[in-house]
Amino acid sequence: MHENVSVAILCGGRSSRLGSDKGLFRPLGEKSLVSRMIARMGDHFGEILIVCKNEEQADLYREELNGNSAPLRIVCDSDLPYNYKDAALCGVATAVASAKNSRCLVFPVDQIGLRFHIANKLLQPTDSTKPACFTLGGDHFPFPAVFSKTHLPRIRHAIEVGALSVRHLLEDLNATVVDGQPFAADLEANGNTHSDYENYFGTKPLFDPHGRRMLYLRLSVTEACNMACQYCLPKGFPEWYRHKARMDLPTLTTMLTAFRQMGFEKVRFTGGEPTVFPQLKEAITRARVLGFEEICMTTNGLLINDLESWLDAGLTQINVSMDTLDPKKFQTITGSKDLQKVLNVIDDACALGLKTKVNTVLLRSSTYEDIPSLLDWALCRPLTLRFIELMPTGLNMSFHNSERVDGSEIAARLHSLGLAQSRINNPTAGPETVYSSPEHVGKIGLINPISCNFCDRCNRLRITARGELKLCLFGQNNLPLDLSSTKSVDRGVRQAIEAKRDRHYLEKGEIGNVATFRTIGG
Ligand code: SAM
Repeated sequence: MHENVSVAILCGGRSSRLGSDKGLFRPLGEKSLVSRMIARMGDHFGEILIVCKNEEQADLYREELNGNSAPLRIVCDSDLPYNYKDAALCGVATAVASAKNSRCLVFPVDQIGLRFHIANKLLQPTDSTKPACFTLGGDHFPFPAVFSKTHLPRIRHAIEVGALSVRHLLEDLNATVVDGQPFAADLEANGNTHSDYENYFGTKPLFDPHGRRMLYLRLSVTEACNMACQYCLPKGFPEWYRHKARMDLPTLTTMLTAFRQMGFEKVRFTGGEPTVFPQLKEAITRARVLGFEEICMTTNGLLINDLESWLDAGLTQINVSMDTLDPKKFQTITGSKDLQKVLNVIDDACALGLKTKVNTVLLRSSTYEDIPSLLDWALCRPLTLRFIELMPTGLNMSFHNSERVDGSEIAARLHSLGLAQSRINNPTAGPETVYSSPEHVGKIGLINPISCNFCDRCNRLRITARGELKLCLFGQNNLPLDLSSTKSVDRGVRQAIEAKRDRHYLEKGEIGNVATFRTIGG
């Protein structure tokens, strides 16, 4: 999190080829472009400025962003105390002058390939007296760029004398440069025309029969796992599990393409253990190129080295499973002696500014008593630690019956330890109830699908490592799909979705057909 950096999204462009305001352009069933860029950057910065050219345009953005929970301010070029010219450099001047922080990251709203992990490269420790930008083919690339308040006189002077090239100004100011070649395609992608958007976001959104828009795909890439957690396999390996199915990259690509074309915005790679799938990083890159907004992975972390290369591939969020800080208990639960490795991955993720969540399943006879130590550890880190109610599966019924701790009991414990529920779940939020306290950076989440059903907000579909569609985690069926082409996947999913139920009936004992979460990833 760059609390001391403002981010400014320039929205004042003319949009002549699009025929409508770019930032407000909304491909069918999707978010507007400005909302999308805010969602990409919002969690990472202390302030977001929306830079409009005049009050008339600002009013449209106020209407669009009304209710957006990001730390937003809308400012106008026309507020500048000098002769406004229709140029991006005026937007830069407005941004830097209006920012509450000295440093300001600036980019145009139509730079549709720009993601946080790319912009973040410009904010790594550099000489903050200089601006920072990427270079492409030896030239300074104008956006994104980081400016400071100290550059304002030079920016203003350039505008006054009509030297409106951002590129030249960055050269003149001797900007610190970062090689942009690895991100060239993302930096150069612009949303100027309808076909740019169709190519990048083109969708026919998918709704279920209950009117819920499906936009979150959970893909299990393998049934294999390098841990053997008690709650997954309390009685050891069953015979059928000796054959562990896994995806292949072409099939994954077909699937990702098909779901992206159905308007899916978020994909989670899970398993088994997704990192034992050798081409996972490549699959993440493909998801990024296809335009998925959120690319997440649920992992035990054991095989992750060089986390930054996962960010460069396109990973936007990591969920690491870690149930206890006690190495002995960790070994008993998971079979692994490597708790420290897992903790290091979590700290690396936080240090890199990657959105980080930790999944902790509470077990009555072991991890439940660890709540205070887990809170101490989590609350001083920029992450969300989520306590997950143990869920029943075909293979863990008796374990579940003796070990489950009800969500209401966990909630009461959190309250008794001084944490307050920080927001009521809203339709776009995930399934967790979030607890926080003002003096801590970390947050605590509670996921209790049994005691607190969140099906009314369901927006997800699951694919097993065998390539079957699962409409609900606790549903009775896995539906085979024809994976030979994106069209056949599209057809299969659109037919199958008609059978998606409005909710699960876990509380009535309907646990569905999942033998262990290794086959579906939770
Ligand atoms: N191997 C990866 C990992 O460890 O995160 C991904 C797969 S794992 C099945 C996904 C998540 O499901 C983990 O956080 C794990 O703790 C959780 N999980 C597994 N079985 C569960 C159960 N019966 N109830 C609740 N959570 C469970």
